[in-house]
Amino acid sequence: MPVNLYYTQKIRGFQQQSVKYTATSVKFSLKRTKFQCPRCGFANVTLEPIGHRCVHGEPMGCCHEVIFEFMTHRLYCPRCKARKIEHIPFLSHPWSRMTKSLERTVLELRHHMSIQAVTDYLHLRWHTIKELEKKHLKKKFSRIQTAHIKAIGIDEIHVGRGMQNQQFLTIVRDLESGTVIHVGDGKGVSALAGALKKLKKSKLKIVTMDMANSYYTWISENFPKAHIVFDHFHVIKLMNDKLDLVRRRVTAKMDDLQKKQLKGLRFIFLKNKEDLPEDAKSILRNMRGDFQELGDAYMFKEALRTIYMRAKTSYHAKIAFHRWSKLAEETGVPELKTMARTVRDKLDGIVSFWTFHHISNAKMEGFNNKIRWLIRQAYGFRDREYFKLKIYQLPEISCVKQI
Ligand SMILES: [Zn+2]
Repeated sequence: MPVNLYYTQKIRGFQQQSVKYTATSVKFSLKRTKFQCPRCGFANVTLEPIGHRCVHGEPMGCCHEVIFEFMTHRLYCPRCKARKIEHIPFLSHPWSRMTKSLERTVLELRHHMSIQAVTDYLHLRWHTIKELEKKHLKKKFSRIQTAHIKAIGIDEIHVGRGMQNQQFLTIVRDLESGTVIHVGDGKGVSALAGALKKLKKSKLKIVTMDMANSYYTWISENFPKAHIVFDHFHVIKLMNDKLDLVRRRVTAKMDDLQKKQLKGLRFIFLKNKEDLPEDAKSILRNMRGDFQELGDAYMFKEALRTIYMRAKTSYHAKIAFHRWSKLAEETGVPELKTMARTVRDKLDGIVSFWTFHHISNAKMEGFNNKIRWLIRQAYGFRDREYFKLKIYQLPEISCVKQI
């Protein structure tokens, strides 16, 4: 009995000629019932067969590999004299390897399954699925609504193994909705080239960013009304980097015994004080004596965090940061002196964090976890464009796979 091709596969205007079953697949031979001139719609056209095409269709029952075979034709229209290849209505483009209906199923399955899982389930090629999804994402994210956007966050992420510029991506996000607005190659102002056009119509008021990067001038030139905010997350991150520098410098000067003592303690510096176990706290207390500079640096990091916990207004924060940088400079530790200078130079932006009611890239932190998850998966991709498109899609992906 012939299968109803429209209800099962959304194929119309074709008739089933024969069907062949194998252990894992089923192959239908189809014949087109009506032809029409693609230009003027005239029905009485002359057919010239070109060749057989095979495309994948939706799985049916226990058979996951469903193939449709049909002849394609070149049509000649005696009315308008057009000579054209026939249009196949159930394919999204003339050389597609699967029906439109299967394409939709694949995209839907991709929300829940990896490319490999879909490949195995539907007996399609890995590359075919990736390319299909890529095309879909490209269309979906070609236009992003930005007219309502008031606050953005700019961040750089490291995606490769080396430290060259091409191993970085610059991501611009809407701080309110979390939408990814722009993903630029590399870091620095050149990575923002495409973002300017996208943000032209926005009502940009607030921009949060890393203190170490160079977007400051770019923002003030292109969005003179926008306020730059160095949020809590980035200030602490920079301080942690400084702490790490001190640790490296101090370690380099140590003898073997001291090195042994310090070995494996790196995590202590990066953790917050209240998260440390008791024995680690006592190591830290002794360390202050043994490794003065390291102890100082750790203490100043904690002091910086305290400002964020205690200061209620921008006025209080300003006083506290002033005092902090003065004391940090007095320690004579070079890394702390640099940090103090940065804090003083960027004080307006740092204190704006209070002015704008703690606006923060904190949401970004959750997003960064997702990025790391994506990078881990993406080592197999080797396709930068696809990877960037997946970043646009990240806010709507849940990366916690449930059992
Ligand atoms: Zn015609």
